[in-house]
Amino acid sequence: MIQFEQVTKTYDLGNPQKKALSAISLEITAKECFGIVGPSGSGKSTLLRLINQLETPDTGHLMLDDEDVSRLSAKEQRLKRQSIGMIFQQFNLLNNKTVYDNVALPLKLQGKIKQKRVMEIMDFVNIDNLANQYPQQLSGGQKQRVAIARALSFDPRILLCDEPTSALDEQHTEEIIKLLKEVHQHFHTTMVIVSHEFSVIRHLCTRAAILEEGQLLDVIPVSPTEPTVFDSYYHRALESLN
Ligand code: ADP
Repeated sequence: MIQFEQVTKTYDLGNPQKKALSAISLEITAKECFGIVGPSGSGKSTLLRLINQLETPDTGHLMLDDEDVSRLSAKEQRLKRQSIGMIFQQFNLLNNKTVYDNVALPLKLQGKIKQKRVMEIMDFVNIDNLANQYPQQLSGGQKQRVAIARALSFDPRILLCDEPTSALDEQHTEEIIKLLKEVHQHFHTTMVIVSHEFSVIRHLCTRAAILEEGQLLDVIPVSPTEPTVFDSYYHRALESLN
């Protein structure tokens, strides 16, 4: 479980300071797929960065599995971080490494490289045929698949997705929504998805938080809708335009 208790975060930009989050209290249940929406600058990314401990709260507490992160030792914090995967709008792949090496990187850094696991996960996200390619040779959708495989390689309990489809065209957006759904169903990962695209949240999440200017306005249930996945660009254009 991820729990924010009265969390406030201020960025020090001199005078005046910028309050990115004000007294946020929020619970995200284990294995839930939870959305975060809000206009640009409302604090969505800051919320994600607090979960993976790239930022620390000024006041209040972030609890992961009932443990206050700020009270953990450096080693315990590192282990918590190793249970959290993240994907980004711009994929954040290393261009000088092959697809295989990108996917294997977290396991290598953790000293736990397992070729079998890397191959399994590449097979799951359907990029096993791209192992020796470099990121520049891939489409946006393929790059996001590689980033998803990299995030899943170390079997994270939480997957944070920061605008996972915002750099993609419609066809690739639909494919990545479908893949993230499969990831959630297969691995039972807790997922937190930030997106300005309501359709992405509607297709993937069961609840969503609405942020505005650093305030949590509401947490609402999201109606499930099956994503429409078209076989081809032609069928999507036909359905949408005809
Ligand atoms: P969102 O993801 O909703 O666009 P952010 O969490 O990125 O919002 O930002 C919330 C507010 O905090 C914004 O006003 C932004 O300018 C400010 N902010 C975010 N990161 C930093 C930073 N590293 N330094 C200073 N201000 C920041």
